Amino acid sequence: DKFKEGLEKTRDSFVGRMNELVYKYRKVDEDFFEELEEILISADVGVATVMELIDQLKDEVRLRNIKDSREIQPVISEKLAELLEKEGEDASLQLQSEGISVILFVGVNGVGKTTSIGKLAHMLKGQGKSVMLAAGDTFRAGAIEQLEVWGERVGVDVIKQQAGSDPAAVMYDALQAAKSRNIDVLLCDTAGRLQNKVNLMNELEKVKRVIEREIPGAPHEVLLVLDATTGQNAMAQAKAFGQSTDVSGIVLTKLDGTAKGGIVLAIRHELDIPVKFVGLGEKMDDLQPFDSEQFVYGLFK
Ligand code: GDP
Repeated sequence: DKFKEGLEKTRDSFVGRMNELVYKYRKVDEDFFEELEEILISADVGVATVMELIDQLKDEVRLRNIKDSREIQPVISEKLAELLEKEGEDASLQLQSEGISVILFVGVNGVGKTTSIGKLAHMLKGQGKSVMLAAGDTFRAGAIEQLEVWGERVGVDVIKQQAGSDPAAVMYDALQAAKSRNIDVLLCDTAGRLQNKVNLMNELEKVKRVIEREIPGAPHEVLLVLDATTGQNAMAQAKAFGQSTDVSGIVLTKLDGTAKGGIVLAIRHELDIPVKFVGLGEKMDDLQPFDSEQFVYGLFK
Protein backbone atom coordinates (compact mmCIF):
# COMPACT_ATOMS: atom_id res chain seq x y z
CA ASP A 1 0.00 0.00 0.00
CA LYS A 2 0.88 3.70 -0.11
CA PHE A 3 2.51 3.86 3.30
CA LYS A 4 4.73 0.87 2.56
CA GLU A 5 5.82 2.40 -0.73
CA GLY A 6 6.31 5.90 0.64
CA LEU A 7 8.30 4.80 3.67
CA GLU A 8 10.67 2.63 1.68
CA LYS A 9 13.76 4.78 2.24
CA THR A 10 13.16 5.10 5.96
CA ARG A 11 12.39 1.40 6.28
CA ASP A 12 15.45 0.29 4.32
CA SER A 13 17.72 2.44 6.42
CA PHE A 14 16.05 1.77 9.76
CA VAL A 15 15.37 -1.94 9.40
CA GLY A 16 18.78 -2.46 7.80
CA ARG A 17 20.59 -0.82 10.69
CA MET A 18 18.40 -2.60 13.23
CA ASN A 19 19.28 -5.95 11.69
CA GLU A 20 22.97 -5.10 11.79
CA LEU A 21 22.61 -4.08 15.40
CA VAL A 22 20.92 -7.32 16.39
CA TYR A 23 23.58 -9.27 14.51
CA LYS A 24 26.41 -7.33 16.12
CA TYR A 25 25.17 -7.51 19.70
CA ARG A 26 23.55 -10.80 20.50
CA LYS A 27 22.94 -9.57 24.02
CA VAL A 28 20.72 -6.67 25.03
CA ASP A 29 23.14 -4.59 27.08
CA GLU A 30 24.25 -0.98 27.56
CA ASP A 31 26.25 -0.99 24.29
CA PHE A 32 23.23 -2.27 22.43
CA PHE A 33 21.04 0.53 23.77
CA GLU A 34 23.67 3.15 23.04
CA GLU A 35 23.84 2.16 19.41
CA LEU A 36 20.06 1.90 19.17
CA GLU A 37 19.86 5.43 20.50
CA GLU A 38 22.20 6.58 17.75
CA ILE A 39 20.15 4.86 15.04
CA LEU A 40 16.94 6.47 16.26
CA ILE A 41 18.47 9.93 16.52
CA SER A 42 19.93 9.69 13.02
CA ALA A 43 16.42 8.80 11.77
CA ASP A 44 15.33 12.20 13.15
CA VAL A 45 13.17 10.76 15.91
CA GLY A 46 14.34 13.63 18.13
CA VAL A 47 16.47 13.44 21.24
CA ALA A 48 13.72 13.86 23.85
CA THR A 49 11.57 11.22 22.18
CA VAL A 50 14.48 8.82 21.81
CA MET A 51 15.39 9.16 25.50
CA GLU A 52 11.87 8.32 26.54
CA LEU A 53 11.66 5.42 24.13
CA ILE A 54 14.97 3.95 25.34
CA ASP A 55 13.82 4.21 28.97
CA GLN A 56 10.60 2.42 28.13
CA LEU A 57 12.47 -0.29 26.25
CA LYS A 58 14.84 -0.84 29.15
CA ASP A 59 11.85 -1.28 31.46
CA GLU A 60 10.26 -3.79 29.11
CA VAL A 61 13.49 -5.73 28.74
CA ARG A 62 13.69 -6.00 32.51
CA LEU A 63 10.01 -6.86 32.93
CA ARG A 64 9.96 -9.50 30.22
CA ASN A 65 13.43 -10.70 31.09
CA ILE A 66 14.67 -10.34 27.52
CA LYS A 67 18.30 -11.34 26.99
CA ASP A 68 18.54 -12.13 23.32
CA SER A 69 18.53 -9.06 21.07
CA ARG A 70 16.39 -10.85 18.49
CA GLU A 71 13.47 -10.71 20.88
CA ILE A 72 13.52 -6.95 21.16
CA GLN A 73 12.42 -6.01 17.64
CA PRO A 74 8.67 -6.63 18.25
CA VAL A 75 8.95 -4.68 21.51
CA ILE A 76 10.42 -1.71 19.64
CA SER A 77 7.57 -1.66 17.10
CA GLU A 78 5.07 -1.98 19.92
CA LYS A 79 6.55 1.03 21.72
CA LEU A 80 6.78 3.08 18.52
CA ALA A 81 3.11 2.39 17.87
CA GLU A 82 2.27 3.53 21.41
CA LEU A 83 4.20 6.76 20.89
CA LEU A 84 2.28 7.44 17.69
CA GLU A 85 -1.12 6.75 19.18
CA LYS A 86 -2.36 9.72 21.11
CA GLU A 87 -5.37 8.94 23.15
CA GLY A 88 -8.46 10.97 22.40
CA GLU A 89 -6.78 12.81 19.57
CA ASP A 90 -8.86 13.48 16.49
CA ALA A 91 -6.65 13.49 13.42
CA SER A 92 -9.52 13.71 10.97
CA LEU A 93 -10.18 16.81 8.91
CA GLN A 94 -12.81 18.98 10.59
CA LEU A 95 -15.41 19.71 7.95
CA GLN A 96 -18.73 21.43 8.54
CA SER A 97 -21.78 19.28 7.88
CA GLU A 98 -23.50 22.37 6.51
CA GLY A 99 -22.18 25.48 4.80
CA ILE A 100 -18.64 26.24 3.70
CA SER A 101 -15.61 24.73 5.40
CA VAL A 102 -12.58 26.98 5.14
CA ILE A 103 -9.12 25.44 5.37
CA LEU A 104 -6.08 27.67 5.55
CA PHE A 105 -2.67 26.31 4.56
CA VAL A 106 0.42 27.86 6.13
CA GLY A 107 4.13 27.05 5.93
CA VAL A 108 7.37 28.33 4.44
CA ASN A 109 8.13 28.27 0.71
CA GLY A 110 9.07 24.99 -0.86
CA VAL A 111 7.61 22.67 1.76
CA GLY A 112 4.87 21.47 -0.59
CA LYS A 113 1.96 23.73 0.31
CA THR A 114 0.60 24.23 -3.21
CA THR A 115 1.02 20.57 -4.06
CA SER A 116 -0.76 19.48 -0.87
CA ILE A 117 -3.67 21.83 -1.62
CA GLY A 118 -4.01 20.26 -5.07
CA LYS A 119 -3.86 16.74 -3.65
CA LEU A 120 -6.40 17.50 -0.93
CA ALA A 121 -8.73 19.11 -3.48
CA HIS A 122 -8.52 15.89 -5.48
CA MET A 123 -9.23 13.76 -2.40
CA LEU A 124 -12.24 15.87 -1.34
CA LYS A 125 -13.63 15.96 -4.85
CA GLY A 126 -13.41 12.19 -4.90
CA GLN A 127 -15.58 12.22 -1.77
CA GLY A 128 -18.24 14.12 -3.69
CA LYS A 129 -17.51 17.57 -2.28
CA SER A 130 -17.44 20.79 -4.26
CA VAL A 131 -14.07 22.44 -3.80
CA MET A 132 -12.58 25.84 -4.62
CA LEU A 133 -9.03 27.16 -4.26
CA ALA A 134 -7.94 30.63 -3.17
CA ALA A 135 -4.57 31.85 -4.51
CA GLY A 136 -3.50 33.65 -1.36
CA ASP A 137 0.23 33.44 -2.03
CA THR A 138 0.51 36.62 -4.07
CA PHE A 139 4.16 37.03 -3.14
CA ARG A 140 6.12 34.06 -4.48
CA ALA A 141 6.74 34.24 -8.22
CA GLY A 142 4.79 31.52 -9.96
CA ALA A 143 2.67 30.53 -6.97
CA ILE A 144 -0.62 31.64 -8.55
CA GLU A 145 0.11 29.89 -11.86
CA GLN A 146 1.14 26.74 -10.04
CA LEU A 147 -2.15 26.67 -8.11
CA GLU A 148 -4.01 27.21 -11.39
CA VAL A 149 -2.26 24.22 -12.91
CA TRP A 150 -3.45 22.12 -9.97
CA GLY A 151 -6.96 23.56 -10.28
CA GLU A 152 -7.10 22.52 -13.92
CA ARG A 153 -5.65 19.11 -13.23
CA VAL A 154 -8.15 18.39 -10.46
CA GLY A 155 -11.06 20.22 -12.08
CA VAL A 156 -11.79 22.91 -9.50
CA ASP A 157 -12.01 26.71 -9.75
CA VAL A 158 -9.21 28.95 -8.53
CA ILE A 159 -9.95 32.47 -7.28
CA LYS A 160 -7.01 34.81 -7.86
CA GLN A 161 -5.87 38.36 -8.35
CA GLN A 162 -2.66 39.53 -9.92
CA ALA A 163 0.73 38.91 -8.33
CA GLY A 164 1.58 41.34 -5.58
CA SER A 165 -2.03 42.10 -4.65
CA ASP A 166 -3.33 42.04 -1.07
CA PRO A 167 -3.88 38.43 0.08
CA ALA A 168 -6.74 39.55 2.34
CA ALA A 169 -8.53 40.97 -0.73
CA VAL A 170 -8.04 37.68 -2.58
CA MET A 171 -9.50 35.87 0.39
CA TYR A 172 -12.51 38.21 0.48
CA ASP A 173 -13.17 37.53 -3.23
CA ALA A 174 -12.79 33.79 -2.72
CA LEU A 175 -15.23 33.77 0.21
CA GLN A 176 -17.86 35.66 -1.82
CA ALA A 177 -17.40 33.31 -4.77
CA ALA A 178 -17.57 30.23 -2.51
CA LYS A 179 -20.79 31.52 -0.95
CA SER A 180 -22.49 32.32 -4.23
CA ARG A 181 -21.48 29.02 -5.82
CA ASN A 182 -22.47 26.92 -2.78
CA ILE A 183 -19.01 25.47 -2.34
CA ASP A 184 -18.43 22.84 0.37
CA VAL A 185 -14.72 23.35 0.96
CA LEU A 186 -12.52 26.37 0.28
CA LEU A 187 -8.78 25.59 0.38
CA CYS A 188 -6.67 28.71 0.86
CA ASP A 189 -3.01 29.10 -0.05
CA THR A 190 -0.94 31.70 1.82
CA ALA A 191 2.51 33.20 1.39
CA GLY A 192 5.48 31.48 2.99
CA ARG A 193 8.39 33.87 2.68
CA LEU A 194 10.70 33.39 5.57
CA GLN A 195 12.79 36.55 5.21
CA ASN A 196 10.37 38.69 7.12
CA LYS A 197 8.67 36.62 9.76
CA VAL A 198 6.85 39.48 11.47
CA ASN A 199 5.27 40.69 8.21
CA LEU A 200 4.33 37.15 7.31
CA MET A 201 2.59 36.52 10.61
CA ASN A 202 0.79 39.89 10.43
CA GLU A 203 -0.40 39.05 6.95
CA LEU A 204 -1.69 35.66 8.14
CA GLU A 205 -3.58 37.35 10.96
CA LYS A 206 -5.16 39.81 8.54
CA VAL A 207 -6.23 36.97 6.24
CA LYS A 208 -7.68 35.11 9.20
CA ARG A 209 -9.62 38.18 10.33
CA VAL A 210 -11.23 38.54 6.90
CA ILE A 211 -12.24 34.88 6.96
CA GLU A 212 -13.61 35.12 10.51
CA ARG A 213 -15.62 38.20 9.62
CA GLU A 214 -17.18 36.66 6.51
CA ILE A 215 -17.85 33.21 7.99
CA PRO A 216 -18.17 33.07 11.78
CA GLY A 217 -16.26 30.09 13.16
CA ALA A 218 -13.94 29.92 10.15
CA PRO A 219 -11.20 29.02 9.35
CA HIS A 220 -12.18 25.52 10.44
CA GLU A 221 -8.66 24.23 10.03
CA VAL A 222 -5.25 25.86 9.87
CA LEU A 223 -2.94 23.24 8.42
CA LEU A 224 0.79 23.75 8.79
CA VAL A 225 2.74 22.12 5.97
CA LEU A 226 6.17 20.76 6.91
CA ASP A 227 8.82 19.10 4.76
CA ALA A 228 9.96 15.82 6.34
CA THR A 229 13.32 15.98 4.55
CA THR A 230 14.30 19.05 6.57
CA GLY A 231 14.23 17.16 9.86
CA GLN A 232 14.79 19.27 12.93
CA ASN A 233 14.32 22.40 10.83
CA ALA A 234 10.71 21.33 10.35
CA MET A 235 10.38 21.04 14.12
CA ALA A 236 11.66 24.60 14.52
CA GLN A 237 9.14 25.85 11.93
CA ALA A 238 6.33 24.06 13.73
CA LYS A 239 7.29 25.77 16.96
CA ALA A 240 7.53 29.21 15.31
CA PHE A 241 4.17 28.94 13.53
CA GLY A 242 2.56 27.29 16.54
CA GLN A 243 3.48 30.30 18.65
CA SER A 244 1.90 32.89 16.40
CA THR A 245 -1.02 31.08 14.78
CA ASP A 246 -3.58 28.54 15.99
CA VAL A 247 -2.39 25.58 13.99
CA SER A 248 -4.97 22.77 14.08
CA GLY A 249 -3.07 20.12 12.17
CA ILE A 250 0.11 19.23 10.32
CA VAL A 251 0.63 18.04 6.76
CA LEU A 252 3.99 16.29 6.63
CA THR A 253 5.23 16.15 3.04
CA LYS A 254 7.99 14.29 1.17
CA LEU A 255 8.17 11.31 3.51
CA ASP A 256 8.96 9.31 0.38
CA GLY A 257 12.08 11.40 -0.18
CA THR A 258 13.78 10.80 3.14
CA ALA A 259 15.33 8.02 5.17
CA LYS A 260 14.50 10.10 8.22
CA GLY A 261 10.80 9.35 8.56
CA GLY A 262 11.35 9.22 12.32
CA ILE A 263 10.49 12.93 12.28
CA VAL A 264 6.84 11.85 12.54
CA LEU A 265 7.59 10.47 16.00
CA ALA A 266 9.32 13.65 17.10
CA ILE A 267 6.41 15.77 15.88
CA ARG A 268 3.83 13.53 17.52
CA HIS A 269 5.70 13.37 20.76
CA GLU A 270 7.10 16.87 21.15
CA LEU A 271 4.24 18.95 19.72
CA ASP A 272 0.64 19.11 20.71
CA ILE A 273 -0.60 19.26 17.11
CA PRO A 274 -1.97 16.20 15.30
CA VAL A 275 -0.42 15.08 12.02
CA LYS A 276 -3.49 14.96 9.77
CA PHE A 277 -1.98 14.10 6.39
CA VAL A 278 1.30 12.82 5.03
CA GLY A 279 2.71 13.38 1.54
CA LEU A 280 4.16 10.21 0.06
CA GLY A 281 4.97 11.36 -3.48
CA GLU A 282 4.39 14.04 -6.09
CA LYS A 283 1.29 12.61 -7.76
CA MET A 284 -2.31 13.64 -7.23
CA ASP A 285 -3.22 10.67 -5.04
CA ASP A 286 -0.02 10.69 -2.98
CA LEU A 287 -1.58 12.43 0.01
CA GLN A 288 -2.82 10.12 2.73
CA PRO A 289 -4.70 10.71 5.98
CA PHE A 290 -2.23 9.87 8.73
CA ASP A 291 -2.70 6.44 10.26
CA SER A 292 -0.35 5.38 13.03
CA GLU A 293 -0.93 1.66 12.59
CA GLN A 294 -0.20 1.79 8.89
CA PHE A 295 2.81 3.98 9.61
CA VAL A 296 4.40 1.48 11.98
CA TYR A 297 3.50 -1.34 9.63
CA GLY A 298 5.15 0.55 6.75
CA LEU A 299 8.25 0.99 8.88
CA PHE A 300 8.81 -2.65 9.73
CA LYS A 301 7.17 -4.89 7.16
P1 GDP B 1 5.26 25.38 -1.77
O1 GDP B 1 6.29 26.42 -2.09
O2 GDP B 1 5.18 25.12 -0.32
O3 GDP B 1 3.92 25.68 -2.37
O4 GDP B 1 5.79 24.01 -2.39
P2 GDP B 1 5.35 23.21 -3.69
O5 GDP B 1 3.98 22.71 -3.55
O6 GDP B 1 5.67 24.02 -4.88
O7 GDP B 1 6.32 21.96 -3.62
C1 GDP B 1 7.72 22.05 -3.76
C2 GDP B 1 8.26 20.78 -4.41
O8 GDP B 1 8.04 19.65 -3.56
C3 GDP B 1 7.55 20.43 -5.72
O9 GDP B 1 8.51 20.00 -6.64
C4 GDP B 1 6.63 19.26 -5.34
O10 GDP B 1 6.38 18.40 -6.41
C5 GDP B 1 7.41 18.60 -4.25
N1 GDP B 1 6.56 17.83 -3.31
C6 GDP B 1 5.50 18.27 -2.59
N2 GDP B 1 5.00 17.28 -1.81
C7 GDP B 1 5.75 16.18 -2.04
C8 GDP B 1 5.75 14.83 -1.51
O11 GDP B 1 4.96 14.41 -0.66
N3 GDP B 1 6.73 13.98 -1.99
C9 GDP B 1 7.65 14.40 -2.93
N4 GDP B 1 8.56 13.50 -3.34
N5 GDP B 1 7.68 15.65 -3.42
C10 GDP B 1 6.75 16.53 -2.99
